[in-house]
Formats: sequence, C-alpha cells, structure tokens
Amino acid sequence: MTEIPAEYRENIREKLADVRCFLLDMDGTFYLGDNLIDGSLDFLEALERTGRTARFLTNNSSKSARVYADKLQRMGVPEKYRDVISSGHAAVHYCLKHYPDRKAFLLGTEALRQELSGMGLLLAETAEEADYALLAFDTGLAYDRLCAFCDLVRAGAPYIATHPDLNCPTETGFIPDVGSFIALIEASTGRRPDTIIGKPYGGIVEEALLRTGLRREEMAMVGDRLYTDVATGVRHGMKGILVLSGEATLADLAASDVKPDLVFTRLSEMIPYLS
Ligand SMILES: [Mg+2]
Repeated sequence: MTEIPAEYRENIREKLADVRCFLLDMDGTFYLGDNLIDGSLDFLEALERTGRTARFLTNNSSKSARVYADKLQRMGVPEKYRDVISSGHAAVHYCLKHYPDRKAFLLGTEALRQELSGMGLLLAETAEEADYALLAFDTGLAYDRLCAFCDLVRAGAPYIATHPDLNCPTETGFIPDVGSFIALIEASTGRRPDTIIGKPYGGIVEEALLRTGLRREEMAMVGDRLYTDVATGVRHGMKGILVLSGEATLADLAASDVKPDLVFTRLSEMIPYLS
C-alpha cells in the first residue's frame, strides 16, 4: 500500500472544524530525536492564525517537565507551548483526587520525586509508612526499593502506574520502560496496576481537560502510534489523528483495529485544512 486509504481523507475540513486544541505526541510526531519534523513550527503558526492551540503530551515520567521545555525551546517552539503534560503530572492529580492526605511509595527518578513533591504529593520514605504504591519510570532503580514496592503491592495496597509502554526509544536503542516493570512486578506479586494513567488510558486525558478547560469534543490527539496516541483520541471522546512521520506505517494502519479519524503524512499536511 502506498497511498493513505480514502476513508481517512474524507471531510477533513469538517472533522477539524470544531477542534480547538491539538494534543501532540512529541517524538515521531513533532520531532524525530533531536530534529524537528519538516513543517512542525508552521503547524503551530497555522493553529495560532486560526484561533486554535496545542499542548504537548508525553507518557515518559522519568524526565521532569523542565527537560522537555528546554528541548522545545532549543527547537524554536514558542513559550506558550512549552508547558508539557506528562503522565507523571497526570498521576499526581489523579492521586491527589483519589488518595488525598495519603502517602505514596514512589518508584521514580530523583527529578520526578522532587517535581511530584513540589506539586503537593505526599511521599513516604519507606513502604511501611505508605498508603499506596506509585510506579513511574525509574531509570536509577534500586533493588531494595523494588522489593519494598512489591511487598506493598503484595499486601494489597492500591497500585497506580504512570504509563504502560514496554520500551522507551533512545539514541542507542530500546530501554525497558514502565510496562516492563509492570510485567516484572506481576510476575513477583500476581497483581497488575489498579490504574494506569498515561496513553491510551484516560487519566492523561483528564489532565488535558483540566489544563485546557476545553471539552473532549474540542480536542484531537495526534501521534505516530496507533495503539497509544490514536487510541487515546478515539477511546476517550476526542478525535484521533495518525501521522506517518514516526513509528506507524500504512501496513500497521491496515492491520490495526484502532481506526483513526484522519491520517496525514506529517503535521504540516494538515495546515491547508485548518482555515
Ligand atoms: Mg511518538
């Protein structure tokens, strides 16, 4: 297959007419590694011109929001777009809502620890004094903390994970991500998380609604993965838009049971349809 099937290219203008905010995946959608994808900044300009906006959204909970903001700044992204929505932030708001005044035992990086604590999340020093278990992307994982985390899960404490990705792509290949930790913890304890926050689950969508003040019908999720990005859109009452600038190919699209509302080669291909 070499062309985008016609069903994903019908009534484009109409489908985009009510979208006030595009939730943008980052790697594979807006940039590839350290390079902007051709036309990405023009896309943001077109949103501005047509009274729309965008928010970046990432499942990665190992880096603080500052790291992404700095990267976007280096790439020339205007300041108003640099306040990235991460699964870590979404997890904090979920936990503050569902477990107010309770303490979390966190598996996460020191940067994340400081960030979450700064947002008001109460963190337990030890598993014994914790009320629930919060699993984030801990790239400095300490074995004794993993054991303590499993003890807490085994004892039946509420168990929340920031996102389900099995691997995280890096310059030098894949590294095991939270989804792989979930599998390990399940092997040891027999339990999977009670709640997963990030794409394609709903917690990160709640965070986007909170941050934008918009309704689901006014938002579209755009990304290069069908089973996370596009699924987030179509399963949670928003538009789901696939771009072919990253992971998914037309063959993946044909084989997938996740059906996007629209498909474009890249973000900038949407520009003529926004007016
Ligand atoms: Mg991506």
